[in-house]
Amino acid sequence: MKNYLLCFFMLTAGMLLLPRASLYFPMEEEEPPIFLTVLDAESGETFSLPLEDYVIGAMEKRTLPAEEEARKAAAIALRSCALYCRAFRPVHEEADLCNDPACCGGFEREGFSEENISAAAETAGRYLTYQGNPAAARFHQSCGKYTADHQAVYGTAVPYLVRIKNVEENAVQTLTLAEEDFRARLGIPEQIPLEDLFWEYDRSLYLLRLHWGNTSLSGAECAARLSLPSPFLSAVLTEDGVELTCYGSGDGVGMSLGGASLLAREGNTAWDILAFYFPGTEPNS
Ligand SMILES: [Zn+2]
Repeated sequence: MKNYLLCFFMLTAGMLLLPRASLYFPMEEEEPPIFLTVLDAESGETFSLPLEDYVIGAMEKRTLPAEEEARKAAAIALRSCALYCRAFRPVHEEADLCNDPACCGGFEREGFSEENISAAAETAGRYLTYQGNPAAARFHQSCGKYTADHQAVYGTAVPYLVRIKNVEENAVQTLTLAEEDFRARLGIPEQIPLEDLFWEYDRSLYLLRLHWGNTSLSGAECAARLSLPSPFLSAVLTEDGVELTCYGSGDGVGMSLGGASLLAREGNTAWDILAFYFPGTEPNS
């Protein structure tokens, strides 16, 4: 009898206590997962992709530094850019981004490395903001003495994508082309003397445009046609032809991954690195 009474008491107490306990100790509510609307470049259809799947997949698609804090900085930057695109849709009207590597950088759907899984998980939900909105935290592989100013390269001012004195050793590449080869690659007609080319630079020696006659090419287009990795390039005319010197790799805007590596090796955290390359931005939480 005593056992029955005890059971009855426990059941009743349990029924009374449980709902009340949940009032006093509410379960911590989980943030609902964020989804991106992605445009499939082949079919033209859109599909949904969880933000965190995108971050790991986008990391996998890019060549990222080995240092853990630099890799985490890249994870936060990719998440920030995706959220920026979700908020402002600067590239596609119908989607936050697309899966074409040539357009939005692309992302993998499988085959993720342990390093990328852990960098994404450790920074999950964390991103950079500027004045309360997600920041377009762009990055490139490496650059010269200075990063490039977004306004100088793309024509619009972004307060946190400005010229920063860079920290890494310059990755320099030189290339000498015979005059005919140089002309053929850039499409410069023979009647234009190479001395008359006008190389338009910003103050970081980033080639903005190369002009001749009524024609001009952007620095990025020149670099691509000359098979050089960045528009931080200069040219000297020699007896052998045109001697080109190129610094770094990528468009030079935002965070240099080479610099992020160096800062991580010096003991800086992912947030230190991001604060260095994106002045005025803040962590979301
Ligand atoms: Zn795109």
